[in-house]
Amino acid sequence: MKIRYFDHAATTPVRDEVIKEIIPYLGVEYGNPSSIYTLGRHNKKAVEESRKKVAKAINANANEIYFTSCGSESDNLALKGIMLANKEKGKHLITTKIEHPAILNTCKWLEKNGYDVTYLNVDKTGKISLSELKNSIRLDTVLISIMFANNEIGTIQPIKEIGKIAKANGIIFHTDAVQAIGNVKIDVQDLNIDALSMSGHKIYAPKGIGALYVKNGIKFEKIQHGGHQENNKRAGTENVASIVGLGRSIELIYSEFEEYNTKLINLREYYISQIEKNFKNVILNGDRIDRLPGNANVSFKGIDAGELLLKLDSYGICASAGSACTSGSLEPSHVLLAIGLKEEYAQGSLRVSFGKDNTKEDVEYLINCIKKSVMLLS
Ligand code: PLP
Repeated sequence: MKIRYFDHAATTPVRDEVIKEIIPYLGVEYGNPSSIYTLGRHNKKAVEESRKKVAKAINANANEIYFTSCGSESDNLALKGIMLANKEKGKHLITTKIEHPAILNTCKWLEKNGYDVTYLNVDKTGKISLSELKNSIRLDTVLISIMFANNEIGTIQPIKEIGKIAKANGIIFHTDAVQAIGNVKIDVQDLNIDALSMSGHKIYAPKGIGALYVKNGIKFEKIQHGGHQENNKRAGTENVASIVGLGRSIELIYSEFEEYNTKLINLREYYISQIEKNFKNVILNGDRIDRLPGNANVSFKGIDAGELLLKLDSYGICASAGSACTSGSLEPSHVLLAIGLKEEYAQGSLRVSFGKDNTKEDVEYLINCIKKSVMLLS
């Protein structure tokens, strides 16, 4: 059976152009970038070229990019690294209730270690309130960490306004842009972003590669000790092949940005219109306008999303639920709870995230399969 993949927010297939670029670094170009002979220097050059590409994509300087192993590591390094290095200013940070666990669980760790965290509420579309943000700022606030776009409901936060508030108050601003990168144009200077996390596997690069941007002049401590790699901020021999892959994929995705963005928006809008046309008790979660181009998260009243996913799987469809399966019962996610979704809708949330190889015909197939499945389950 043909697999129809609608889960690009979970991960993306590695694109051919990226694989082609990576292969030499898994084979003949096996040198260590820290070695001074030619084979090593080739690798060093490849890493630095990739750093430039990542920096260019977000209008940063190459020496502000630190390669990591994933988005989660970038989030850990940003939060722990910045809080540890700036303790003399204070121990308070502000985040939101709808962050990815990479942020929320890092905040829990910081709380256990004597730091203080404020978790901002969101409205029913998933947006924070700028006045609540302003009111949460204290003299000892060091950091604001607010995700660029949510991984479940796709809502994009008012990042420019948040950046302005942070700057006006002398607070460092970090954003988890793992879902936004490649899907939104990001200029860290224009948006006043001091630190930004990204991950390769959401933009057609391999899994196990990420990057953290930290603006020059922002103090942060390393959290992984060892050698002097990554300007002495992240020890460990570089994952050269994947770094090369991340550089190529980010370069490609932004060089095709308009086309990619329009394609995803068209697929998403067609899908949403078909859902609204074919189903009665259904709602769209997240903001109608400020949302990721490829994200559509809808809730079917009274439907069990886990069962729906299994039915869809039997038709070759890969999608995702907004609920976490714990010991057989589907618990609504913290994001759906935070937007105040009613229980009967929260259990039936289906996240579809489109990607570059999806077609309108795929969406028609998807809609037909959802129709058959929902009929069977209701
Ligand atoms: N942050 C967000 C918003 C994400 O969606 C994800 C992954 O889904 C992560 C962080 C973690 O990234 P990684 O899987 O590269 O660790």
